[in-house]
Amino acid sequence: MNPNADTAVIIVAAGRGNRMGGEVPKQWQLLAGKPVIAHTLAAFQGLRVVLVIHPDDRAQAEDYGVTLVEGGTTRDASVLAGLRALEGSGVRRVLIHDGARPLVSRGLIDRLLAALATHAGAAPALGVTDALWRGSDELVSGTVDRAGLYRAQTPQAFHFNAILAAHLAHPGGAMDDVQVARDAGIDVAIVEGDEDNMKLTFPGDFARAEAVLKGRRMDVRPEIRVGNGYDVHAFCDGDHVWLCGVKVPHSKGLLGHSDADVGMHALTDAIYGALALGDIGRHFPPSDPQWKGAASHIFLAHAIGMARAQGFDLANCDVTLVCERPKIGPHAATMQAELARIMGVEVDRVSVKATTSERLGFTGREEGIAALATAVLVKA
Ligand code: MG
Repeated sequence: MNPNADTAVIIVAAGRGNRMGGEVPKQWQLLAGKPVIAHTLAAFQGLRVVLVIHPDDRAQAEDYGVTLVEGGTTRDASVLAGLRALEGSGVRRVLIHDGARPLVSRGLIDRLLAALATHAGAAPALGVTDALWRGSDELVSGTVDRAGLYRAQTPQAFHFNAILAAHLAHPGGAMDDVQVARDAGIDVAIVEGDEDNMKLTFPGDFARAEAVLKGRRMDVRPEIRVGNGYDVHAFCDGDHVWLCGVKVPHSKGLLGHSDADVGMHALTDAIYGALALGDIGRHFPPSDPQWKGAASHIFLAHAIGMARAQGFDLANCDVTLVCERPKIGPHAATMQAELARIMGVEVDRVSVKATTSERLGFTGREEGIAALATAVLVKA
């Protein structure tokens, strides 16, 4: 059972944010290409969400598939509207969060919920490290002892019934939900906050928040997939062979249902293999007459297309052709360029090389050509 099934989050996003400037309220401005509120909602994925909005924002808020509640004229009234929407729903714990803090981390949310095991309220805060002054008319008029002072953040977490009763009893005008809770006699535990959990307030805050998001993306390990492919085609009568997309004159041809491009087939199978999607035969059955004599670039383009559809790019690939003749060296650069063109990647990601088998075995007796390939796919 989901351990957070009894937990909801109220995200307050009804304000108009007049310090930020711009026509759009800050919670709907774009941060790294998405509205701020989309980042905030993503941070609470898996929890039941009530989003408290301004009526003017309803159309864009409907895109997110969460419960929408229209806020009041004050923050208190907006939070109470969110709490009332959860009344009778079986929710036992609630997190109340500012929509303009999009960088809240899962770790912080988990710390708050853990604190609710022993306290009816818990809120994140950071100590004050800068000296604090009083001032007037641009002159310092005094200093303030920073011992025992904290910078408060959200989400603030509470036992649901306790904070609902506290809001219903409160006369209004509270700074935040911790004040509402304390005015009702609820003890609120201080939980270690997070410097990145900033409240977007001034235009410069967006650049800082984007830098944090970029840093987080670089922390995420890319997904890497490796596949191998192996193929063999026998020689037959003819005057050329197709190898890695290049027509190479030879005293024989290669026998096959398609153009028998053994190198491109091995590479295609390596990409399918990296995706755990079988091999060419699964996607282009030899029993299907429409693939008879088909140019193998169709297969390779299909495989790389399936990779891209899953968000992967080719990091590199390496094809080894095994034959005594024809000589591959003079054609290798053209082959690399052709494979790179078909896959839409830079040519330096594609290697084509060849070896003989020292006259041993079927390749040594010039009965056919074998090819091996390795492909590495990455999803950033
Ligand atoms: Mg083949």
